[in-house]
Amino acid sequence: MKLHKASVAIATGLTLSLALTACGGSGSGGGDDKITIGIKFDQPGVGLKTSDGKFTGFDVDIATYIAKELGYEAKDIEWKQAPSADRETLIRNGDVKFVAASYTINDKRKAQVSFAGPYLMAHQDLLVRAGETAITKAEDLNDKKLCSVAGSTSAQNVKDKLAPKADLQQAGGYSECLTGLENKTYDALTTDNSILAGYAAQKEHQGKFKLVGLSLSDEPYGIGLKKGDTELQGKINKALEKMQKDGSWEKFVKANFGPANYKNDPAPAIAETS
Ligand code: GLU
Repeated sequence: MKLHKASVAIATGLTLSLALTACGGSGSGGGDDKITIGIKFDQPGVGLKTSDGKFTGFDVDIATYIAKELGYEAKDIEWKQAPSADRETLIRNGDVKFVAASYTINDKRKAQVSFAGPYLMAHQDLLVRAGETAITKAEDLNDKKLCSVAGSTSAQNVKDKLAPKADLQQAGGYSECLTGLENKTYDALTTDNSILAGYAAQKEHQGKFKLVGLSLSDEPYGIGLKKGDTELQGKINKALEKMQKDGSWEKFVKANFGPANYKNDPAPAIAETS
């Protein structure tokens, strides 16, 4: 990012000193006056870009708090969409400082990125149309049309163990699955209960869908960051601990999950250190 800025400045004929100014300043977040953070744009209650261009959700509140602790005001945050399949690439390329996007910590991902956290424990569940009675457990999906998202643990779990014979469609985002569930292209949508609760609670969806209420996996959400950046990881872990202690975590949970009637697990212990 810094290199890019510098080279653009030079290429456009600015003096070297100006280019250096553009990279200068050693704010605690990494020496830039803005911070770019990856979130979801289509998950109400978790990470959502609203029709009037605002950003809301639990991940947005968590990320804003972390940014503040790193020395950035809310106005200095640039939100970037981080679809499930793109998160590792965005982090590796330095397109974002960190990702807060319903991002489960696991070993496969840790081969490419590092995590701070966890900051929420979600569980995989199923969303079906309100009148559905034939789907009550994961195995019921084996002859059904199921939608999930490419690059997610939800899709991977279906293929690996939950229902390998399901007719699984992998969309770019969960909101695409929701449209297909409503118009009967799919029989079910699977991902974390935290995300599904947000969809079911949307005003325009009221009475249309229901969560089956299963706990098919553990999904500890982490803040994704550049692999091996233990300095940033330590700072973010500290911010997350402070957030729990000062009551902000509880406040963010109530504000974002309360309206969806989502019964979250208690705050998890911060454990990511390498
Ligand atoms: N938490 C799961 C994951 O990280 C599912 C939600 C998502 O795709 O963002 O893959």
